[in-house]
Amino acid sequence: QCVLVCPTGALHEKENIDEVWEALGDPDKHVIVQTAPAIRVAISEEFGSEPGKVSTGKLVAALKRLGFDKVFDTDFTADLTIMEEGTEFLTRLKEGGTLPLLTSCSPGWINFIETFYPELLDNLSTCKSPQQMFGALAKTYYAEKAGIDPADIVSVSIMPCVAKKFEAQRPEMRDSGYQDVDYVLTTRELARLIKRSGISFDQLADEEYDDPLGISTGAGLIFGASGGVMEAALRTVYEIVTGETLENIDFTAVRGLIGVKEASVPVGDLEVKIAVANGLSNARFLMEKIKKGEADYHFVEIMGCPGGCIGGGGQPIPTTMEIREKRIAGIYEGDSAMSIRKSHENPAVQTLYQEFLGKPLGEKSHHLLHTHYTPQNKF
Ligand code: SF4
Repeated sequence: QCVLVCPTGALHEKENIDEVWEALGDPDKHVIVQTAPAIRVAISEEFGSEPGKVSTGKLVAALKRLGFDKVFDTDFTADLTIMEEGTEFLTRLKEGGTLPLLTSCSPGWINFIETFYPELLDNLSTCKSPQQMFGALAKTYYAEKAGIDPADIVSVSIMPCVAKKFEAQRPEMRDSGYQDVDYVLTTRELARLIKRSGISFDQLADEEYDDPLGISTGAGLIFGASGGVMEAALRTVYEIVTGETLENIDFTAVRGLIGVKEASVPVGDLEVKIAVANGLSNARFLMEKIKKGEADYHFVEIMGCPGGCIGGGGQPIPTTMEIREKRIAGIYEGDSAMSIRKSHENPAVQTLYQEFLGKPLGEKSHHLLHTHYTPQNKF
């Protein structure tokens, strides 16, 4: 099934339901889970609901019933990604670093650029994906705060994507001193686990994510759709550069299913030229343009799957264009409903910097939240 929808991650698909089941039954383990933004608008399809229904509260409730000790949200580290990547972008602009900056949160895309465009690896943001930032913090910051030996923590993530399984196993992703993320379940695997446990997903009353790694903003949530990382970054970068409040925070020009979206956004004295691509053929189109010097973008977002993570290879089947549109609508509905919609206003992220990281791109951030890339010769 996955070969059809997730070309770069397909080779690494391995079911991890049994390992997670075993960890949940081990009284000596503290098992925590993070859920990617795109899961909450898709999981209920597995239980008969219409695509795009936002089921965040039921998703959290189901994970608590399954026995996870803490239920956290990848949206929290999506917000953190904006702090790190936004700062990286502004630093490159100021210091004349390599531009355009290319986003780095989609492992399907990372596999692609490492394989086909290694000459452009300097353009990639050094930020780890939100999944991996979460993993590195879970076994350091969270372990310290909760007084738990990181060796006893089992860190699970629920992802829309099979490429995330490969990403979690990369040797670079052990900066906590342990494998940062132990197991990755796709949306479909989680649905099977819920069914196996006899939980009636539809009947569950909504529950809330746990503190502090479950606190997030609308900006973190929109990472689940193509254009979301760019929009979230603009909401923050604009306010950092101008010192003014951004009144209209909806950058609709970067939303939707069009393969390549381009825009120019005034940020202080600079017209920031941006591009957003989803799907690897569109990524190739943009990389060729950049390679030939035919593009003058400052910042480019690429997502490996059509529509972004809402259309990931681990999501419920089928994923048609109509279903993608409905899931995207769910993402923006969720964003509008959030009380905080800018990453830099996330109080838990602010506390994380005060208590632990210091500042974006600081020494600790550099060690735990950033990485490097390696040209791959897979042929
Ligand atoms: Fe995975 Fe999302 Fe990237 Fe697709 S777009 S490969 S689902 S991270």
